[in-house]
Amino acid sequence: IKQDYLDSLDHHGQVSSHGEDDLLQSRLTAKELVLDVLKKRATEVDVDHCGPGEEDAFYVADMGEVYRQHLRWKMNLGRVKPFYAVKCNPDPEVLRLMAQLGNGFDCASKSEIELALQAGIEPSRIIYAQPCKTKSYLRFAAEVGVKQMTFDNADELYKIKATFPDAELYLRILTDDSTSLCRLSMKFGASLDVAQQLLELAHQLELKVVGVSFHVGSGAEDPTAFLKAVQDARMVFDQAEEVGHELHTLDVGGGFCQSSFEKFAGILSDAIDSYFPPHIRIIAEPGRYYVASAFTLAANVIARRDVPDPLDPSRDAYMLYLNDGVYGNFSNIIFDHQHPVAQVLTRAADQPADRGSLNPATSENFSYSIWGPTCDGIDVISERIDLPGLLNAGDWLYFEDMGAYTKCSATRFNGFSDNHEVIYISSETGASALLNY
Ligand code: PLP
Repeated sequence: IKQDYLDSLDHHGQVSSHGEDDLLQSRLTAKELVLDVLKKRATEVDVDHCGPGEEDAFYVADMGEVYRQHLRWKMNLGRVKPFYAVKCNPDPEVLRLMAQLGNGFDCASKSEIELALQAGIEPSRIIYAQPCKTKSYLRFAAEVGVKQMTFDNADELYKIKATFPDAELYLRILTDDSTSLCRLSMKFGASLDVAQQLLELAHQLELKVVGVSFHVGSGAEDPTAFLKAVQDARMVFDQAEEVGHELHTLDVGGGFCQSSFEKFAGILSDAIDSYFPPHIRIIAEPGRYYVASAFTLAANVIARRDVPDPLDPSRDAYMLYLNDGVYGNFSNIIFDHQHPVAQVLTRAADQPADRGSLNPATSENFSYSIWGPTCDGIDVISERIDLPGLLNAGDWLYFEDMGAYTKCSATRFNGFSDNHEVIYISSETGASALLNY
């Protein structure tokens, strides 16, 4: 039933029973479910007696949220086929769901291609979207038949000619990504000045250019960046056809955020429909859009230090040390410019007596800074936050929206784990059915 329903959404405008209000309502109910699971798991741990690491940080991943994001995509960008950006969160259950939903995969390396293939994806549903590829990975792509790939410079064309002359190439063009969270165009993308030369060189080398790709920057803020990029892509399509290539696909990249999705999708949809006739296939490489809100992280308070409040030394403030930090799952603070917000999950049942007259269960707010477990001063999660009640070692905090660029860029610095438990749930029957939960 659900697959029929998904198919029915393949053209935008055909939204039926599962409207946007329904999705919002489901999301609120889902949050309660996630919180219940987090609390249950956290209260199972007895920090005073548990084995080493049993109180480690853990995730609750709601596959129903990924599924809802997919429905939202279909409602708003029905013409655009998503190729999920594996780099964002290569969790095996996420990849399994993406495969079940019929999405393609955007891979950046040999091991990401392997993960996609292991998830049961046909090579034709993979794009190797890395314009400057490692030679041996390119040979691997040729061996396993992953033909679609991006390029943005002449050297890459010679490399592809020597290694995989049957590849199907997408010319990645430069975009204005100045308003995005993570700028990519300073590293990748051919300027429009050199596009024609590259297309001519590819033609001389008898390489097949089949499309144009761009990326407006990860976490883009300006929706008109999509309009400009689509217009530029149209120009390059025309140049390519003059040179003698037969282009059939436009790849609009990633950069979609959950908060601004409808606004971006509206502008992008109109631009695509204005500049590209229906026979041109449109694909995208969304990453964070799909997974950011699906993962919630719980971390344990391992220590507390009482200090004078830096803003008002007559008051007390508290430094909390968690068992996860920027070298771990909070790597998104450094690499993805995120600001995860702590919320209190549970407090240890037995409060020590050394807390003076303060009532640990009070709803009074206290000022905290929150730190990771490593020796490094850069390992700070939150420089200042007010939270209700006086927290202490053994209590748990949780952080929503931890699904994108977190676990995948965690390190083992100082010997802490980079592989935390994930508890999978589904708040949507559609996702449960697809995944046999
Ligand atoms: N495609 C490419 C080539 C990328 O480099 C990235 C992110 O860096 C993505 C897709 C995914 O971007 P996002 O997570 O912002 O959608």
